[in-house]
Amino acid sequence: MRLLVIGAHPDDPDIRAGGLACTLAAADHDVRFLSLTNGNKGHHEQRGMELANRRQSEAQAAAEIAGLDGYDLLNIPDGELQPTLDNRKTLIRYIREYDPHLILTHRPNDYHPDHRYTSQLVQDAAYMVTVPKMCPETPHLADDPVICYLTDEFHKPYPFSPDVVVPIDQEDVKRKYDMLHQHTSQLYEWLAYNHGYLDDVPDEEEERREFLETDPLNAMAEMSNVADRFRDRLVARYGEEQGNAIEYAEAFEACEYGAPLTDDRIPELFPI
Ligand SMILES: [Zn+2]
Repeated sequence: MRLLVIGAHPDDPDIRAGGLACTLAAADHDVRFLSLTNGNKGHHEQRGMELANRRQSEAQAAAEIAGLDGYDLLNIPDGELQPTLDNRKTLIRYIREYDPHLILTHRPNDYHPDHRYTSQLVQDAAYMVTVPKMCPETPHLADDPVICYLTDEFHKPYPFSPDVVVPIDQEDVKRKYDMLHQHTSQLYEWLAYNHGYLDDVPDEEEERREFLETDPLNAMAEMSNVADRFRDRLVARYGEEQGNAIEYAEAFEACEYGAPLTDDRIPELFPI
């Protein structure tokens, strides 16, 4: 199994699919993260190449912890991603070269323009990866990958409705937070500043790690775990007792423009 998670920024894949990524990588599947921007605006003090380089290093550290194949950042400025033909071609070539069975990305309706256009670019590349005369210098794929959306909290035009909800065991949850912990510039600086809790972030490394996973001030903890939000789905799949005992889960919604996510493909693509 090859999984490709495509986010707009270096930390989006980790937040929404880090648990699945850690679980699959630990079982010797191939997992890669791609950020379509270089993240060079995600800070209140740093910017430009200094910040882009820092975020590249943070992404590499996260990839090592999760055992990913790689964590690539395209050199497109943060906040300036456009669904251009050039970007579509870049993405078509990238997807063809990795040849994933499953792609995860943002939904098209989202507060952040980079998230919206990432979703648009993945949708625009979806079928074209199989068209030989499109970008003919990179061999086309025989089959479309399955494409699913990452969770979000938006309700219009319709709320995120999962086709797959996967439990993440404690060891992989720990590894997911260890990954997020590497994105210091985001989790402990920029997002804390932007959400107004910068003064509450502990200085010590160990206390920060604890804060990241458990403190209600830290919005990530709740956003990244959807076990309670989709409890009914977990109970339906795993039964009353087991479904209610699941503490941590991630969820994914099928996009209609990739290969169909049929029932028989779910255990192959989400082998948990
Ligand atoms: Zn983002």
